[in-house]
Amino acid sequence: MTERLYYVDSFLYEFEAKLVEITSVDSRPALILDRTAFYPTSGGQVFDTGWLWADGRNESERLPIVEVAEDEDGRILHFAAKRPPFAPGTHLYGLIEKERRLDHMQQHSGQHVLSAAFVRLFNMPTVSFHMGVESSSIDLDTKSLTTEQLRDAETLANDIVLENRRVDIRFVTQEEARGLGLRKIPSLEHGKLRLIDIHDFDLTGCGGTHVANTGQIGCILLRKLEKVRQGSRVEFVCGKRALATARRDYAALVESAALCSAHIWDLPQQVRRFQEDARRSRKANDLLVGELADFWAARLVAEPPPHQGTILIVRIFPDQDLGFIKLLAQKLTKQTPGVVALLGTTREPPSLVFAQSAGQPFDMGALMKEVLSRLGGRGGGSKEMAQGGPAQFQDLEKVLLEISAKLRDQPSSTSSR
Ligand SMILES: [Zn+2]
Repeated sequence: MTERLYYVDSFLYEFEAKLVEITSVDSRPALILDRTAFYPTSGGQVFDTGWLWADGRNESERLPIVEVAEDEDGRILHFAAKRPPFAPGTHLYGLIEKERRLDHMQQHSGQHVLSAAFVRLFNMPTVSFHMGVESSSIDLDTKSLTTEQLRDAETLANDIVLENRRVDIRFVTQEEARGLGLRKIPSLEHGKLRLIDIHDFDLTGCGGTHVANTGQIGCILLRKLEKVRQGSRVEFVCGKRALATARRDYAALVESAALCSAHIWDLPQQVRRFQEDARRSRKANDLLVGELADFWAARLVAEPPPHQGTILIVRIFPDQDLGFIKLLAQKLTKQTPGVVALLGTTREPPSLVFAQSAGQPFDMGALMKEVLSRLGGRGGGSKEMAQGGPAQFQDLEKVLLEISAKLRDQPSSTSSR
């Protein structure tokens, strides 16, 4: 079993130890020491990273420790980035990556304060804690949680931070723990329970690393509220993460406000106005497109002289979209009998719509396949109407004219059957 130096001092970043064994887990080399300040992933808190080396004079020989875990026997495994160049028995020096440890202490201690605040105010116990790369979360045993409750818990938690209360580590027997009114009683470890005591506010069993005074948490900022199976999930950030998050929020708001020429606090009102404007514009546009399609439908049916009872229309619109040519095809074929319309648009993405009035003898789906076999792309449809997206449109007009010439020669033979 490895002696855990972080149990008694969370601010111990440098230490010395003896290498006991080099083992391997899933072919990753792992060092086992007689004592360590490295924290292994457990209790919701993630592992420390850092370095181990044998000779204090040569920094280049420092072995990076990329992950730390504990095994079932209570041994702490220090996973190295490469095969360690040390033999068992070597006296090693260790260094913990300080910024990462401080960040973890801020998030984890903030979690204790926040969890206690939810219990104090609303009797909502925390059932689980997760520390993520960007933010952390606690799951509260409650089905409902209001915005006001979130704000009240956040306020109380930050009051406790500002009061800069002492955070002590205590070791007690299970017997002693029973009378202490713990928020959470952990299972007994090595005969003693390790308690984290936030002076006159929270006392709970925990094996993690914590700040020495609540002021070191910096700030507790609540983020997202989410319903989960076991209750309500509250996302939060503490300390420097809160600062980074607030900066990011502010940058996004400032950029958005500049785009709207508004103050950041007026953004919701601005966005609502934009949505309303967009809705009105869409409606006006739909109306205009409908009128334009009516205009083109009337003009196109009048253009070509009917050939054996069929009005064959071939037209490419460079400035319209698929929605327009579809609408036009419908108007042409529904309003006038005998129409066969081969319509295209070269506006990105280029599209084709083929349609015929009821009773016409051709097969628009087959025609679309034939055209796309020459132009590339995908599409298809029924006998009456087909739609496609050609891969290229340089030869579009030529291909459509050839197809229409073929149709002109075909109808009598097909319709006379
Ligand atoms: Zn803890």
